[in-house]
Amino acid sequence: MRALGDVAREALACTRCPLAAGRTQVVFGVGNPGADLMFVGEGPGRDEDLAGEPFVGRSGKLLDKLMLQEIGIDRRQCYIANVVKCRPPNNRDPRPAEIEACRPWLESQLDLIDPIVIVTLGNFATKLLLGSPEGIGRLRGRSYPYRRGQLVPTYHPAAALRGGAEIVAEMRADLVRAKVLLARALA
Ligand code: URA
Repeated sequence: MRALGDVAREALACTRCPLAAGRTQVVFGVGNPGADLMFVGEGPGRDEDLAGEPFVGRSGKLLDKLMLQEIGIDRRQCYIANVVKCRPPNNRDPRPAEIEACRPWLESQLDLIDPIVIVTLGNFATKLLLGSPEGIGRLRGRSYPYRRGQLVPTYHPAAALRGGAEIVAEMRADLVRAKVLLARALA
């Protein structure tokens, strides 16, 4: 089996979809390749495109804070990736063909990291991994058997930044759910 670093190096040269033309750099993922917990977001924004790392802007600051407060970890202890690895122009939604073209990179990450608990952040990651047309508002609030563990859908931190205290509180509850599932699996 290839190592995650080898896959990342390959991904850095990816031209499988038109997003390649507009990127500063591929944002493959960050964190511990042996993590038990993995977060999956939507796609890089401007800050991430420039930094080459997922969730380093305002959404990322909120994610870092909630991760620390509710799970007690920082980003180096888990793994964070996105559905698409290159920034869509003007932060538009990724298109179905872009998501499909990028999907093998995410599948390789899931295969190699093999996390026990996956937290999907927002509609794109949740719908893709659960294969469900339902929105995050309906899917969150519970966990789903996924690969060798569980998938916990939650809001995208950008939605929490827009949506205020109630959304943040629900996101906190989802992260606690992920923590409990992880603790149970590791007990
Ligand atoms: N939003 C995402 O979905 N991913 C990032 O990396 C940053 C913002």
